[in-house]
Amino acid sequence: MQFRGYQDLRSRLVSRELTCEQVIGSYLQRIDTHRDDNIFTAVFHEKALERARELDGKLQRGEALGRLFGMPIAIKDNIAMNGAPLSCASKILAGYESVYDATVIIRMEAEDAIFVGRTNMDEFAMGSSNENSAIGPVPNPFDKTRVPGGSSGGSAAAVANDLALVALGSDTGGSVRQPAGFCNIVGLKPTYGRISRYGLVAFASSFDQIGLLAGNCDDAALVLGVIAGLDERDATSSHHDVTDYEASMDHLSLEGLRIGVPSAFFPESLNADVAGVVRAGLKKLEDAGAVLVEIDLPESDYAIAAYYILVTAEASSNLARFDGARYGYRSPDSNTLSDMYVNSRTEGFGDEVKRRIMLGTYVLSAGYYDTYYKKAQQVRRVFQDRYREALEKVDVIAGPTSPFPPFGIGDKMDNPLEMYLADVFTVPASIVGMPAVSVPVGFDSLGLPVGIHLICNFFEEGKMLGIARSLQNFCQPVGSN
Ligand code: GLN
Repeated sequence: MQFRGYQDLRSRLVSRELTCEQVIGSYLQRIDTHRDDNIFTAVFHEKALERARELDGKLQRGEALGRLFGMPIAIKDNIAMNGAPLSCASKILAGYESVYDATVIIRMEAEDAIFVGRTNMDEFAMGSSNENSAIGPVPNPFDKTRVPGGSSGGSAAAVANDLALVALGSDTGGSVRQPAGFCNIVGLKPTYGRISRYGLVAFASSFDQIGLLAGNCDDAALVLGVIAGLDERDATSSHHDVTDYEASMDHLSLEGLRIGVPSAFFPESLNADVAGVVRAGLKKLEDAGAVLVEIDLPESDYAIAAYYILVTAEASSNLARFDGARYGYRSPDSNTLSDMYVNSRTEGFGDEVKRRIMLGTYVLSAGYYDTYYKKAQQVRRVFQDRYREALEKVDVIAGPTSPFPPFGIGDKMDNPLEMYLADVFTVPASIVGMPAVSVPVGFDSLGLPVGIHLICNFFEEGKMLGIARSLQNFCQPVGSN
């Protein structure tokens, strides 16, 4: 049972050709056949079917149907769902269950979505390959020896393998967009503050955003419209009106649209296949009437350095709460309170998380604060100015999502710096807080997916998704796979 996006599924439910129970049953069955792929940390077999039957009853009684009626959705394992395990793919949260629902969960449930399970990820969303997971890696759907990207690798693999129509992820520096690029699907990070983060486990709070992974832009726009908007439980959520994203997509005209192409996004070191596929995608937009404009974003080289100073600083503080006393894992053999803290954290956290806590503590320490943390904050401000200036001249900034195609499992695990470079094109939008999306546009010579990355001005998600949809349709006509 396969669908050409949610509208296809919905019309077959509403016409009673299928029931929610049949649809969810078939998704759960497919999830089970992928059990060895490690995509899910928990699957809601009974609960999802029970909910499906409830929704079938609603349809039979002729009640009004929610906007996401019967949509099978997967949730990254760092977003709280009442009564469900919340592990962040970390040993330190083993056995922990959420005691409340995240705002996004409440909003989707109110629109009749069905949650099928929770997805694997890099521990505490730190990573670009899903390999930093206490429950192991996830294979890329196009080549099982390669990574699906990260940190929302499970969410991306779930959508790409059609185990959910849409998945939620979190994106601090690229964790929704990069895995979407690696798995040939759409990955959207909204404007900072657009989607409430109430119930998202914090990694780096001035960057963290909940984002969406979907097979196409229409499904992403629909779900964004449901979960976006002010939430009094998240002080960083924005008062800005939620627009009709689907209408903005429909109103978009490519004629005369100015697409900024920074030379910094096409360095000599860029993988040649990736450069070729991305340039070919941009050419299609040009053929449809858009204008490609070369732009200069001179500070691009500093993005990774600034990002890793700022996020590790915030992480070192956010992760202080996991101390063995309050959540999940507690080391069994400690004689004093302080031993209990040290042992629980030493045994509970994985290597990458420990590396970041140590780095973050260092850059915040008295002697180094000005040299690293304060300097990185200043760089962040320069980025914000540059991107604002650039987006006064162009409608959108475009480039590759990742500098290389999906890499082999294990290839970068011994070289954290190389792993960090995977984020070189996604991190700037996170530094400035602007919305960005990765769209599938083709394949390299080995048949591995390549994504284009688009950045728009604050709160221009509708326009951005409109451009993304055109690109996806030009490069990968619906129904072609
Ligand atoms: N890969 C980046 C990192 O490791 C981004 C992670 C994320 O967006 N959560 O920090």
